[in-house]
Amino acid sequence: MNMSNKNNQQKSRLTFYGGAGTVTGANFMFEVRGKTILIDCGILQAKGGFEQNSKFDYDPSKVDVLIVTHAHADHLGKVPKLVKDGFNGVIYSSPATKDLAKPMLADAVKVMGEEARKLGRDPIYSNKDVDDALALWQSKDYYEEFSIGDMSIRFLEAGHILGSVMVEMKRGVGKDRKTFVFTGDLGNTPAPLLRETDKIVDVDYLLMESVYGDRDHEDREDRIAKLAKAIKRTAKSGGTLLIPAFSMQRTQILLYELNKLIESGSVPSIPVYLDSPLGSKVTDIFRKYTRIFNDRVQAEIKAGDDIFDFPKFIEIENSIGSAKLSKNKGAKIIISSSGMSVGGRVLSHEKRFLGDKDNEILFVGYQAVHSLGRQIQDGNKIVYINKEKVHVRARVNSISGFSAHKDSSHLVKFVESTASTLKKVFIAMGEPRSSLFLAQRLRDALGVDAVVPEHNQSVEVEF
Ligand SMILES: [Zn+2]
Repeated sequence: MNMSNKNNQQKSRLTFYGGAGTVTGANFMFEVRGKTILIDCGILQAKGGFEQNSKFDYDPSKVDVLIVTHAHADHLGKVPKLVKDGFNGVIYSSPATKDLAKPMLADAVKVMGEEARKLGRDPIYSNKDVDDALALWQSKDYYEEFSIGDMSIRFLEAGHILGSVMVEMKRGVGKDRKTFVFTGDLGNTPAPLLRETDKIVDVDYLLMESVYGDRDHEDREDRIAKLAKAIKRTAKSGGTLLIPAFSMQRTQILLYELNKLIESGSVPSIPVYLDSPLGSKVTDIFRKYTRIFNDRVQAEIKAGDDIFDFPKFIEIENSIGSAKLSKNKGAKIIISSSGMSVGGRVLSHEKRFLGDKDNEILFVGYQAVHSLGRQIQDGNKIVYINKEKVHVRARVNSISGFSAHKDSSHLVKFVESTASTLKKVFIAMGEPRSSLFLAQRLRDALGVDAVVPEHNQSVEVEF
């Protein structure tokens, strides 16, 4: 065997098929000693998304293993398409991610089906493809070691959403032992429900997210005070407080905070309706996994509190119940989805409630440019909902600080614990500005070799 062959054998190849140069569509291929491993297989939620989501730049049948870091669509939304196009290996995730995948992918079939219809195209995948994907799916607990080829794998706590993991891969022995960590998305620790992001040490290679790579969050201390004030205003005006919220985690955090505010008597007890079928399904899965919540919340549960239930809380089951809500007189809170008002039951509530000055709409999440939510948030007095003209007379307010991502300073802090052993950091899953800014900050502050890969770029790694 000549030297160049030997060298080639010691190198592994990492290719950025998605999630490079953009926040969404995470899809990284790691080829190690004849094993082809994918980390995440998410949909691109941006311009040109449909085209990119309709194809792969590689042959899915050649992939051995897929590891899913968490149940957001931009990390798992393309898994059924991978299976449809020939992938027949094993899918690994945490147990909670596997449970959450089911309703999340069923929802993706609906949402992407509508998008396909609008474009006059065939849907990218169907419910059958979702079932086929779930049949290949295995779960591994946090810190449970398992092998892929000669590699030892563990899931660490990412603290981002329920069941979110970082993937730690180790191979080699003695001084040749190398560690690669893929972060997935990293949580805004300390989070209300979840445990803190695990500290990482002795890592050689790191592939990390950078959604907020170029900015820090506003102080989040006053988010509960703002929520309490909105409830008090609503109780006084006798109107409706409408909160558009993402079904995944944002809804559960709202319920958790409302539970505390109402049961402690900090706000008047008014009816709270959850009108989001996906939100209800996800809440049920959160109830099943309280064992992976942080110690503080587990203590609250042990002390006897049902953290997602309180007096006058009602989950709306069907669209008839949803329609009836407009006839309920008196002060009330409605939590509904989608979080950016781009579909779902929240649209009919906006039609009914935005025209009255006694009502309020409260934004608790990011509103994408051009979304209906953003138009309302920006103060437009006239908006169109399903082509119907709606005058906005209701109060419009926003609470930031509910973000589930680490901000720039905390991303730097996260890397700091392993800076001395790092050979390279790949910065991905952010807008180019964010990723480049974070890379520079990491180089300046920690002296690490931080690079920002491009879409479809392939790099060799000594692993
Ligand atoms: Zn995420």
